[in-house]
Amino acid sequence: MSSGVRLDEEREYDRDGPLLELEGVSKHFAQESGLLAGLEFDPSEFPPISVDRERVLAVDDVSLAIQPGETLGLVGESGCGKSTLGRTILRLLEPTEGDIYFKGENLADLGGEALRQRRSDMQMIFQDPQSSLDPRMKVGQIIEEPMRAHDMLDDEGRRARAKELLEKVGLDPRHYNRYPHAFSGGQRQRINLARALSVDPDFVVCDEPVSALDVSIQAQVLNTMERLQDEFGLTYLFIAHDLSVIRHISDRVAVMYLGHIVELADKEELFENPQHPYTKALLESIPVPDPRETGSRGVLEGEVPSPVDPPSGCRFRTRCPRLIAPEGYDWTDEEWAQTRAFMRAIKRRTFEPMAAARIEAEFFGGSLPGGEAGSIVDEAISLVATDRGADADGDDDSERWAAATDLLLEAFAAESICARERPAYELATEYGDGEHVAACHLHR
Ligand code: SF4
Repeated sequence: MSSGVRLDEEREYDRDGPLLELEGVSKHFAQESGLLAGLEFDPSEFPPISVDRERVLAVDDVSLAIQPGETLGLVGESGCGKSTLGRTILRLLEPTEGDIYFKGENLADLGGEALRQRRSDMQMIFQDPQSSLDPRMKVGQIIEEPMRAHDMLDDEGRRARAKELLEKVGLDPRHYNRYPHAFSGGQRQRINLARALSVDPDFVVCDEPVSALDVSIQAQVLNTMERLQDEFGLTYLFIAHDLSVIRHISDRVAVMYLGHIVELADKEELFENPQHPYTKALLESIPVPDPRETGSRGVLEGEVPSPVDPPSGCRFRTRCPRLIAPEGYDWTDEEWAQTRAFMRAIKRRTFEPMAAARIEAEFFGGSLPGGEAGSIVDEAISLVATDRGADADGDDDSERWAAATDLLLEAFAAESICARERPAYELATEYGDGEHVAACHLHR
């Protein structure tokens, strides 16, 4: 793979085609691990001291297209790269690699004045309506500011447009001279909307725009955004971690995990026929509205791994309940399912120390898989069992659990296709005729 932003020539813009196309877009950050931790000394080099920065792979090789007038929902847990992707599309962050075509023009090629001009077509709404509005400016000035920056209209024209936009977003134009603190959270987000729309953009990245609002206010703001989309012919990339918000507003949905898009489909297809284990886990984690139920229906196990050193192959594999059996062992589906559950329990240390026979009974119904797989499992059990040999009595407890984890992960998890190849499969759809892509080897 080449490094650096590719400088492809502009392409013909097909007005029936996508408004925005991403091809292999990555955004990596350099991160120093501590004040001196990254310093390396090598007397054979000049200069002899260098800083070894870790690379955070926040967004990694993302390709997708957004059609004019649609809302593409982008969902995933916090820290999965959604906001970084939104900012990279708008070139608020420089892409490390890849191409971003907006109306056929490669944004990666643009700089200076050309980029500034293009920015009026592409706006962003941020999560926190409080901090994104300057408290010292009156609402009218706030809405006029982008128009002024892009030399749109004269003073009178800008004032008239600001008042008109206040009305369009559901606020009273007579409040033009008020300061942001006089408005509620929902109203402040409406001011943000008016400001973004002031320069008549085609495309708006909405980064968690309703997450800070009460649920009752969320629906009202979302409805306003939908109305404005129709009226102004807008295209939205709508970023949210909340699936019910995504379901309300999106036409299509992209699910992001640790810098990769793992599933992409029309909204109905994604919600009714999810095919990626991560999407399924997210859907099962939606809180149940029934007050007699507590908590959520399912929980994603474990933490999102560090984007500095993401898992090979499928990035979800360290948390995936469906990890595919490695080849080379002769076992039944049930034996693999038992081994997988045992491996996860050892890794997360989710059971109290007990005798080997009890571990065998609890995880394997009293009978281990046959052949080499069984011998490896047996070895792992004997590392953590309370009745392991007397010679091991002095061993450190956590070291033995770590050794059992390494043994199982290296023998089984690292040998799975899930660890060896990055998945990407196009699937047949059950709802509608849009594309359905899932990055999961279960569909190989
Ligand atoms: S590729 Fe493997 S690890 Fe990844 S989601 Fe599919 S089954 Fe799970």
